[in-house]
Amino acid sequence: MTVRLKRGRDGPVRAGHPWIFSGAIDAVEGQGPAGALVRVLASDGSFLGLGYHNPHCSIAIRMLTRMDTLVNAAFIYQRLKTALALRQALLPPETTGYRLVNGEGDFLPGFVVDVYGQFVVCQCLTAGAEALKPLLVDGLVALLSPIGIYEKSEGNVRREEGLPNAAGVLWGAEPPPLIAIRENRCQFWIDPRGGQKTGFFLDQRNNRALLGNLAKGKSVLNGFAYTGGFGVFAAKGGAKNIVSVDSSDSALHLARRNWESNALPSEQGRFLQADMFTYLRDTPQRFELIVLDPPPFVRRRQDLQAGLKGYKEINLQALRKLEPGGQLFTFSCSQHVSALDFMQTVLFAAADARREVQLLQQLGSAYDHPMNLAHPEGVYLKGFWLCVGD
Ligand code: SAH
Repeated sequence: MTVRLKRGRDGPVRAGHPWIFSGAIDAVEGQGPAGALVRVLASDGSFLGLGYHNPHCSIAIRMLTRMDTLVNAAFIYQRLKTALALRQALLPPETTGYRLVNGEGDFLPGFVVDVYGQFVVCQCLTAGAEALKPLLVDGLVALLSPIGIYEKSEGNVRREEGLPNAAGVLWGAEPPPLIAIRENRCQFWIDPRGGQKTGFFLDQRNNRALLGNLAKGKSVLNGFAYTGGFGVFAAKGGAKNIVSVDSSDSALHLARRNWESNALPSEQGRFLQADMFTYLRDTPQRFELIVLDPPPFVRRRQDLQAGLKGYKEINLQALRKLEPGGQLFTFSCSQHVSALDFMQTVLFAAADARREVQLLQQLGSAYDHPMNLAHPEGVYLKGFWLCVGD
C-alpha cells in the first residue's frame, strides 16, 4: 500500500514526527486491513518513510522508519537491541524492573514493553502494533530469553483503534500472581493482572530516589500512594513517619506488603484508604514532605479546565498542610496538561493558600522513558519539587 500526502504536509514527517493525521492524506493506493504497512510519499512522489495505517483513526499513520528498508523480524530486533543498550547504559544498579520500549520514544509506535525480572509485560496499543506483535515477541525472546511474556493491552488508544482489551500469555510461562522486582535496592511486588497499567509506575523511579535522599527525619505524606513506592524510599531514607493514602484497597494491600518486604518498621508507616481531596481537607496533621501523584485528571482535551480545577484544589490543600520550610513533590501525568499549564495552576494554588513557593527542580519521567524530540506529544509526566516559605 502507498499513501500520498497533501501538498505542504510532509514537513513534520521529514523532521521525524511519527504521526500523520488523516487530514494530511491525499490518496491511498492499494488495500489492506487496519494496521497494514504503507509506503508514505510526499505530494511530489518523493519517499518519506514506512509506517502502519489505520483508516479509522485520526492518527491515520504511525511512522516506523524514514529509511527505505524492510519492516521484518530483523528490523524489530534491531530496534529492541538499541533500546536495551540504552537501558543497560542508564539504569541504576540493583534494578530489575524497567521500561524496555516506550512507544514512539523508542521508534516503535504503539508498543510498551516493561521488564519485571524474568518476565515481560507488554502493551500493543494500535492495530499496527497488533499486526507486528508476533515479530515483537520473537525479538523479545531472542534478546532477553525471558521465562514468559504477558500481554496487558487496554485503554483509550486501543478503543480508538477499534480494538478490544487483550490480556494473556503471549509466550512461555504464565507469570505468578505477584512478580518481585528490585529498584535501587528496594523490593517491590508487581501485580501484572490486577495492577494499573502493566503493574508498576516505572516512570517515577528517579523521583522516588530523590525523595528518599531528602526524607531523613521528616514526616511524610504519600498522596495517591498506589503500591507505596515513594513511601518505601522515604522510609529507607530515614523518614520519621509516613502516611500513605490511596482510594484503592487492593493497591494499599500491596503497599503494605511492599513495606514489609523491605523490612521497614510497622509503627513508622500508616496506610489509609481515603479520597485524597477529603483527607487533605479534613486532616489536622501537618507534614514536612508531601507527594501528590494523582491519576490523570484530564483524559480528553475538552476536560482541560475541569481537570486543572482538580489539580488546583489538591495542590492548594497540600500547600496548606505543609510545615514552614516543607517540601512538595507534585505531579501531573495528563498528556493534555502542559508543563506551563501545570505550573500556572500550582501558582494559583499557592496564591490562594497564601504561601510563598520556590521551585527547586522540574521533574519528569525516568531515563527508560525516552521521548522522540520531534514528538512533544510524548511528554506526559510533569512534576515540580517545591519548597514553601514560613
Ligand atoms: N505514586 C504511585 C503511583 C500513583 S498512581 C507510584 O509511585 O507507584 C495514582 C493512584 O491514585 C492510584 O493508585 C489510584 O488508586 C489513586 N487514586 C485515584 N483517585 C484517588 C483519589 N481521589 N484519592 C486517593 N487516591 C486516588
